[in-house]
Amino acid sequence: MLITKLKNKEEILLLLEKKPFIIKCFGCKEVYFPEDEIEELLKGNESKIIGVARLDYLCREEFSKLYLTRYSSQIKKSGAIIVFSCGVGVQVLAKLCIDKKVLAGCDTYSLDGFQGLSVQNANCEQCGECYLNYTGGICPLTACSKGLLNGPCGGAKNGKCEVSPEMDCGWELIYKRLKGLKIENVTKESKVLIRNYKRILDELGYNKNNIKGE
Ligand code: SF4
Ligand code: SF4
Repeated sequence: MLITKLKNKEEILLLLEKKPFIIKCFGCKEVYFPEDEIEELLKGNESKIIGVARLDYLCREEFSKLYLTRYSSQIKKSGAIIVFSCGVGVQVLAKLCIDKKVLAGCDTYSLDGFQGLSVQNANCEQCGECYLNYTGGICPLTACSKGLLNGPCGGAKNGKCEVSPEMDCGWELIYKRLKGLKIENVTKESKVLIRNYKRILDELGYNKNNIKGE
């Protein structure tokens, strides 16, 4: 199971300055989706938003491709696309919109319990602190064999990963994507990516006394 939670308010308000087109994914009914919180946050900021689409199953690339044609003129006018979905939905949109910044409005957390299998290439480890806004919509945790957060290990050869030569180096993909968006330095426009485990545990309502094994 997974859960999507809104990123903090200040971060989303900054994203709204980009005159975005907003996409909300309502595919997985069993996944908590923070609809009311999103509405509350967008209220009063309508003038900054080019348009809003409420879609389902963004993770299904063929569907998303069709949806995008319906909104293409609004998307063209926008400065970015903000996607409220799990990490897979954001990655699929980023892949389909190569000349547009595609930004995540939510963090995706892992919950205990059964989860269905996805047939998509994009993958999300539900890390609880989504980095896609800094890495061009490509997940460094799943696209890089070592899950590196701040750049490549230096071992790639001809664009292939030193750990799994049959797969592309995730960080080369990120670099190319950022270069295409005219952002060449992942740490220049953003912070150094450090995972804050404490915040993630706090968000999920854990504390020192109920973490498993303690
Ligand atoms: S950074 Fe990757 S693993 Fe973490 S929430 Fe985003 S897509 Fe999922
Ligand atoms: S070669 Fe690229 S994908 Fe492979 S571990 Fe190094 S940085 Fe990650």
